[in-house]
Amino acid sequence: MTLTEIKQILRERNIRLTRSLGQNFLHDQNQIKRIADAAEIQPGEKVLEIGPGLGPLTRELLARKAQVKALEIDQRLIESLKVLFETSPNLTLEHVDALKLLKKEAFDWSDWKLAANLPYSVASPILVELALSKHAPRRMTATLQSEVVDRITSAHNTKSYGVLTLLIKAHFDSVDRFRIPATCFFPEPDVESACVTLARRPKPLLTDTAMITYVSLVKLAFSQRRKIVWKLLKQRWRSEQLVQAQKQLNLDPMVRAQAITFEQFVSLANFLTH
Ligand code: SAM
Repeated sequence: MTLTEIKQILRERNIRLTRSLGQNFLHDQNQIKRIADAAEIQPGEKVLEIGPGLGPLTRELLARKAQVKALEIDQRLIESLKVLFETSPNLTLEHVDALKLLKKEAFDWSDWKLAANLPYSVASPILVELALSKHAPRRMTATLQSEVVDRITSAHNTKSYGVLTLLIKAHFDSVDRFRIPATCFFPEPDVESACVTLARRPKPLLTDTAMITYVSLVKLAFSQRRKIVWKLLKQRWRSEQLVQAQKQLNLDPMVRAQAITFEQFVSLANFLTH
């Protein structure tokens, strides 16, 4: 979909874009192909697209013979998509707030992939909902603000490392990322963008029960980044249990959350799960 086509559809349909819905449309075919390549779309695969907008990525996914379920919040764009893709049997379009839907309904996404240029205002909660769902997608390729991609892919002892990193990392490995220049979107976003690909771990590292502990642990540990972790964890766990964990896992008694590795958080969650 070229910039001229995008402008033409918007003009013909008298659509004024809504900034709060993150309506920045991709018009660079190379970047669209790169996203679909990163998603490793194979014919017949089920692909969830959140925020299809005017459909540039949808078109590429359908060209690669994916079975696409596209969730779009804006009725005006749904109307346009219906006209554009009316004859496509491989597309299911839903007019819905994707975040609300994901929060409300537990769906089995385990044999699905996500491929999306996400609305930036709700990109992190959408990814977290999908990543933590009981049956998470096997691969997620999403365009987001670069700053959020940094948070997802960062290592311990860095400023970006935190709750988002660890919630996603519990079930996913980050396997690819690339920058998408602002000039590839209409209108150009104020922030830098990047596309990240996350692959679901072949085997979960934590049981369902340990996962509940892990989520509370990570959230509490980062609730005050500058504080010593053990002091924060006392709100939830007994002191003796924490001292035992600290010694057994050979962790620093003065450690802050930022210095604890993902593997150490996993061990700690396992230790604190009884
Ligand atoms: N995929 C298109 C593209 O690449 O050009 C559009 C991407 S645009 C960044 C984000 C899209 O998400 C917009 O079409 C917007 O209307 C839609 N959107 C925003 N919030 C949404 C939500 N909560 N649920 C579903 N779609 C949403």
